[in-house]
Amino acid sequence: MRRWQRCLFVSSLLFVGCGGAATPELQLVEDAAEAIGSLRAVRETTTLVIEGQGRTYRLGQNKSPRADLPYYEVENYRLQIDFANKRWRLRQDRTSTFLTGSPVYGVRQIYGLDGDVAYDAQGEHTVRAPERVAAGRWAEMYFNPIGIVLLALDETSTVSNLREEEGQQVVDVAAANGTWFTLFVDGETGLPSKVMSSAYHPNLGDVAIETFFEDYAETGGLGGFQTRLTLPRSYTTNLDRFRVSEYRVSTNPNGPLDDLTAPADARSAAPSVATVTVEVEEVASGVWYLTGQSHHSVLVEFEEYLVLVEAPYSEARTLAVLARVRELQPDKPLQYVINTHHHFDHSAGIRTVVSEGLTVVTHELNRSFFQDIVARQHSIVQDALARNPQPLTIETVTGDETYELTDGRRTLQIYRIGDDPHCDGILMAYLPRERILIEADAYSPTSREAPFAEVLLRNIEDRGLRVDTILPIHGGVSGLEDLESAARTARGPAD
Ligand SMILES: [Zn+2]
Repeated sequence: MRRWQRCLFVSSLLFVGCGGAATPELQLVEDAAEAIGSLRAVRETTTLVIEGQGRTYRLGQNKSPRADLPYYEVENYRLQIDFANKRWRLRQDRTSTFLTGSPVYGVRQIYGLDGDVAYDAQGEHTVRAPERVAAGRWAEMYFNPIGIVLLALDETSTVSNLREEEGQQVVDVAAANGTWFTLFVDGETGLPSKVMSSAYHPNLGDVAIETFFEDYAETGGLGGFQTRLTLPRSYTTNLDRFRVSEYRVSTNPNGPLDDLTAPADARSAAPSVATVTVEVEEVASGVWYLTGQSHHSVLVEFEEYLVLVEAPYSEARTLAVLARVRELQPDKPLQYVINTHHHFDHSAGIRTVVSEGLTVVTHELNRSFFQDIVARQHSIVQDALARNPQPLTIETVTGDETYELTDGRRTLQIYRIGDDPHCDGILMAYLPRERILIEADAYSPTSREAPFAEVLLRNIEDRGLRVDTILPIHGGVSGLEDLESAARTARGPAD
């Protein structure tokens, strides 16, 4: 309606025809539709079935902060989109190319969106995802050439700011719900080359997400119309500076869809909200195991101050752990937080503890990573550090040297776990007097597999540590015999 009115208005004043788009911005979008096939054919495209194979990468799980991300090989990728009903579903089969010490879910992955219901298949069940996930999935519907063109042509969207960047024609597309996208159109072919949007990531803050469309080729004709569409066979997605997925695909526009309504158990559920629980177990005098959710912490008391090993999982969890620490020891300051390794699930609370002025202890390999994490912009969601900016105070463990905190009565030693295939510079903490070892991911009793148990055992032996009790960041109180048996199982039967 709006464009028609605008066109009438212009033509009555200037006597120009109504054949073209109302603005140069919309003209670019309409030209892109013509390059894909025709404006009419794109408008008539109500569904897409995109199938192929590729790779998905595990963000925040690289072996060192600068290393490439580990990835899954993906087969049977099938993305079905129903634009009119705002529904999509993705199914893919993933094979990991890396070892993991944490629980791994099934090979087949199914998740999707139905209106404002985002859902994830978990075995026989489907769970409803949090609202933040649903908002992200709504945007994902438009990270393909047809989707972004349809959104730009939608009367409720605003298309503005035509410009040229590196040989590309660029416009901003604002959807009615306030979500912004940037559409890049190739200067030579007139085809969409990239869609970009911004998003919030708890560890990285404000991030750009961009999907590149490459290797365009003609697809089959549309049902009813004989127009063939020219669509990409390669999709590559980056989040911030990280490659997160790449697919080789073929596309069936207006192809038949499965029933994409959200399964009943997800539809009837409220959006999931993480429940933060912190349970306390005093394992030795002045040593508390702070458990709950999937990632635990350990509090160690010294004469003058307190030390926390690990601030994991999320800001909410870390805030709850810090509150519990204050309840347990209201008169003693918490001074140090030991970070075992940089993986996002183990470093999610680092910005939180920095906002409270605590000193972070980690391996020297992580120094620039944490400097970056602390400096990053968090404006889309203001986290604790954005609300209360503080400088990073960091102390690092050098190479394989021992880092020690002691007051003469109690000693806490921090060692690097050497040759750990999971992560370079991953640390373990040891209380020699109490014979307690604290470690993350090297041995998780809840995990079905323990591929790094042998490496941990070797490190304990090489260091000559006398361990009675293991406090894992994942799992529960364990002992050296458990670790030894896990190492034997991982090694397989002797021949
Ligand atoms: Zn890890």
